[in-house]
Amino acid sequence: MPENTPVQYLKGVGPKRSDAFAAVGIRTLEDLLYYFPRRYVDRTNFCKISSLKEGESCTVKARVLASRQHRSWRRRGFSITEAVVFDEAAKLTCVWFNQPYILDSLKPGSVLILYGRVEHYGGRLQFSNPEFEVITGEDEEMLNIGRIVPIYRLPEGFSQRTMRQLVKNLLDEFLPKVNDRLAYDLRTRNKLLNLAQSLLNIHFPESFTLQQEAYSRLSFEEFFIFQIPLVLRKLKKNRLLGQAHDTEGKLTQDFIAALPFQLTAAQQKVIAEIKADMRLSQPMHRLLQGDVGSGKTVVAVIACLMAVQGGYQVAFMAPTEILARQHYNKMISQLAGLKNKGKAISAGLLIGADKEKDKLIQEIKNGKVSLVVGTHALLGEHVKFKDLGLVIIDEQHKFGVSQRAILPQKGVNPDVLIMTATPIPRTLAITLYGDLDISVINELPSGRLPVKTMRFTHAQNTKAYALAKEQLFKGRQAFVIYPVIEESYALDIAGAKKMFIQLKDDQFRGFRLGLIHGKLKTAEQDEVMRKFENKELDMLISTTILEVGIDIPNATCMIIESAERFGLSQLHQLRGRIGRGKDESICLLISDAKTEEAKARLGAMAQFQDGFRIAEEDLKIRGPGEFFGSRQHGLTELKIANPLTQMQLLKAAREEATALLRLDPGLANREHSSLKAKLIARFPEYEQLMLIG
Ligand code: ADP
Ligand code: MG
Repeated sequence: MPENTPVQYLKGVGPKRSDAFAAVGIRTLEDLLYYFPRRYVDRTNFCKISSLKEGESCTVKARVLASRQHRSWRRRGFSITEAVVFDEAAKLTCVWFNQPYILDSLKPGSVLILYGRVEHYGGRLQFSNPEFEVITGEDEEMLNIGRIVPIYRLPEGFSQRTMRQLVKNLLDEFLPKVNDRLAYDLRTRNKLLNLAQSLLNIHFPESFTLQQEAYSRLSFEEFFIFQIPLVLRKLKKNRLLGQAHDTEGKLTQDFIAALPFQLTAAQQKVIAEIKADMRLSQPMHRLLQGDVGSGKTVVAVIACLMAVQGGYQVAFMAPTEILARQHYNKMISQLAGLKNKGKAISAGLLIGADKEKDKLIQEIKNGKVSLVVGTHALLGEHVKFKDLGLVIIDEQHKFGVSQRAILPQKGVNPDVLIMTATPIPRTLAITLYGDLDISVINELPSGRLPVKTMRFTHAQNTKAYALAKEQLFKGRQAFVIYPVIEESYALDIAGAKKMFIQLKDDQFRGFRLGLIHGKLKTAEQDEVMRKFENKELDMLISTTILEVGIDIPNATCMIIESAERFGLSQLHQLRGRIGRGKDESICLLISDAKTEEAKARLGAMAQFQDGFRIAEEDLKIRGPGEFFGSRQHGLTELKIANPLTQMQLLKAAREEATALLRLDPGLANREHSSLKAKLIARFPEYEQLMLIG
């Protein structure tokens, strides 16, 4: 295919330019075609020099009358290049500082396009350091002036003019041969430009309206290509055969009746969605989103019992040992009085360090244990289930995509429920998790008070400590979170270990303090957590090891030290450890934040409580790529499409992908062959996906 041709074969590109292209990721002709301008400038009209006004930015076309260069007498080695240009009506002086090499381009007689801000200097108007291009032939006139002109992020050693010329060469050669991957009907239905028109107008727009249409069309294509594998995976799953669970059994009813609270309407709605999935023999693949503290665990436990009451096993995976243990202990106590067909429910905890592990693994294998809670220890090859009916993954964002895929393979198409406390806007969820169904718990249990969030500088930390003590005197408990275990002099941040000693001996003398961090042995961590849960400790000094899941309603105060060192979503997760009971909780952020970004994060924390809102702010501050990190790379690979701003296009692309795959799941139709080739090139695993099932 012509588009896979190395860029070196393009007219005007030799080995040197092809190296410079490679450095910005352009290897093939297609890479260059899809290397879109960073912005455009409108050069359909030029300003007249005679009507320039101070402070305006404008583009002028003018001929060089004279140019010269001299050294500054005030600063050694400082050069000033000057040119006087003329647009057939008036003259303008232009100056450039410290760019001696440009003098060559400013020969008297050459025609320039200049862009800059008009300044007033020494009694007259001038341009300082304007951007400029020299116009030579007529060909160039067509590319570089009198039109909307693209501005590219330039490979090393390129000028805008060279770049434009090369892209122009490419378009001239390639557009007549281009193969549209979007079928004619689809384009008509969605009012999309064809590919040739789009590529032309994204590089050299005929108008800004056409540039926008080109942008929409190319974004649509990008969404479409990303949705196809997700939709296909989803359609395939629907055709798999798993277990039809007995969702109406007595065990779940007894469990719900025994709960010390009423389920919220949102919890009930989600339970109904899960029930509808689990009743069917096709496997469930559901993502449960809900803010911290919205009560996802109890929903997950109810799902567990639906599987257990029909005789199936459940695997419940959490990202830390502390959290796995907490879930396990809580389930044991909640299930203590309950019977399933006359028998107690057997549960086991599988974590890395356990001595009893081998025995438990045996019992999992022969089906004696029905409810298995654990960490990624569950993924071990030797862990085998007799009859795995349901997989639950808590805090899924802490696991990699491949880790999430392993657990379900230990059964025959078991139901899968994955949970996340970093709720994201629906469009992003579709972009990332388009192969899953999505449920949302969008309300907190009633009676929760918002967590009062306050900011302090380091110099004011005694004020924060005093507020914390007030809570402790009322019999409540508190967390103090540090970003690191050991202090760092280089970064000037305090660490948990040393501060534990200081706080214990000084500011919080007389209170019972505990220390927990990732370098402690598991048994020690568990012991500290147990004491804190049993109220044998008043205050827990910790690192972010407590970030996920931990649920201790009597803890009503959290101090976060060096708060600027945490991400916004992370701060929200941390704060989610408090405000879980009936009493008002306080979160005290201590920071001498200096950067604008850090200030924006802390400001958002003080202003917003809602996790969806916080995620939106975080996305605004960091952008989707940073927000999701490298693990969930789907988003960072979108080159131009933006799910946050192009929601309608994303929806339309997804609908079209679904319609297409319903008709032609293998993309065997000739009309779809270039699309299929693109998909296979883009997602190597796609070919296999089309073959199986
Ligand atoms: P998360 O969604 O962050 O995992 P949890 O499942 O840990 O939240 O629930 C937070 C707390 O709220 C727990 O103590 C849980 O027992 C309690 N809880 C859950 N649902 C309700 C409810 N409907 N009413 C009152 N409290 C609830
Ligand atoms: Mg949780």
